[in-house]
Amino acid sequence: MAFEGLADKLSAAFKRLKSKGKLSEDDVKEAMREVRLALLEADVNYKVAKDFTKKVTERAVGAEVMESLTPAQMVVKIVDEELTALMGGGETRLVSPPSPPAIIMMCGLQGSGKTTHCGKLAKMLKSRGHRPLLVAGDIYRPAAIKQLQVVGSQAGVAVFEMGTEKPVKICKEAIRRAKDYGNDYVIIDTAGRLQIDEVLMEELHNIKDAVHPTDILLVVDAMTGQEAVNVAKTFDEKLDITGVILTKLDGDTRGGAALSVRAVTGKPIKFAGTGEKLDDLEVFHPDRMASRILGMGDVLTLIEEAQVKMDQKAAEKVSRRMLENKMDLNDLLDQFKQVKRMGPLKSVLSKMPGMEKQLKDVDIDDRDMDRMAAIILSMTKEERAKPSIINPSRKRRIAAGSGMRVEDVNRLLRQFEQTQKLIKQLRGKGGRRRFGF
Ligand code: GDP
Repeated sequence: MAFEGLADKLSAAFKRLKSKGKLSEDDVKEAMREVRLALLEADVNYKVAKDFTKKVTERAVGAEVMESLTPAQMVVKIVDEELTALMGGGETRLVSPPSPPAIIMMCGLQGSGKTTHCGKLAKMLKSRGHRPLLVAGDIYRPAAIKQLQVVGSQAGVAVFEMGTEKPVKICKEAIRRAKDYGNDYVIIDTAGRLQIDEVLMEELHNIKDAVHPTDILLVVDAMTGQEAVNVAKTFDEKLDITGVILTKLDGDTRGGAALSVRAVTGKPIKFAGTGEKLDDLEVFHPDRMASRILGMGDVLTLIEEAQVKMDQKAAEKVSRRMLENKMDLNDLLDQFKQVKRMGPLKSVLSKMPGMEKQLKDVDIDDRDMDRMAAIILSMTKEERAKPSIINPSRKRRIAAGSGMRVEDVNRLLRQFEQTQKLIKQLRGKGGRRRFGF
């Protein structure tokens, strides 16, 4: 998970500060030395780490902090604000042109996740009511066109290709088609190389000159740390990019690229890739990222994911039935389905405040939910609606049908009963007022 090591080290440094009560200038300086070390170990660019701690120290030794009642908390607040500023302050949106289509040129080295992210971006735009068109501009890798067609069909987005025709011609044709068909976004997948070379840069330049993209997004792999930052610097010098998509953040335990890209290139990270699936794309919010690094969770992203990935009507139905005390095992099964759509449970829970650290060494088996679902699916309609009729012989049948043991069936029924009791209690003890029902 992203930023694990950094989050641990920062929280250790702040814990020592918090144990001190009143702070001296030396206490702050000592803590900042630890912060700097933690940043360097997270593979943050040397100069970025140095400037960062200098800025935080200057603000933290000011009278406002030293004389406050909770100086350590004030220091954490300053670190939070400066981390946010380091990553660009607010969210940076895609450039919107005076008249459609917006043209997004995606570039990056081979293996960075460029093609996958063309699909992810197309899917995100489509879910927001846009009509994107994907363009197969990587004509050198034999499988590239096919790969784009696969992600395009998964995203439900049209893919424009002209085989191995010249990329500039393909892009021009694609834009003409987009205008004819009313596509408001054109996303161009371009060729990648294992390393930056002149021929690649020239080709990208030619495309840029021919189509005048509204956005040139560089796709870089977060797991390559400072190398990603160097790649971004070179691409920006040659192409004047408008932003970065930082991929594979799910596998990046250090976080150096996320923290240095903006400071080194001056260009914002616009999106972050957090997994191999097409839904695993987040708008990059520097403030939320800073919260995650400081172990404060990211509830806002969790809520947004729930809005996109869950079936709102089904979720509302379950909560209504729950509040009316009518929830049965059919509803529980629906709920399992909803939760599964949000992705692995561990990743969902890690966005809750304070959970990321606690979950570090915990193994959550998503199959537990599958097993419970299998038990419910082995029940008859009647049994699901009225679990109280499930007697021992029914239990044996359900266990055999789902390949589980009678104890497992008992455990599920017990848990369900406890949940119902809890809801009843909440409704009773002034719950109506407190929860608005
Ligand atoms: P390209 O050569 O730059 O077009 O890269 P691809 O789109 O083919 O991706 C290379 C590999 O990285 C594929 O196996 C993808 O599934 C994987 N990948 C892409 N984005 C992510 C991400 O955000 N997280 C993870 N874990 N894997 C990713």
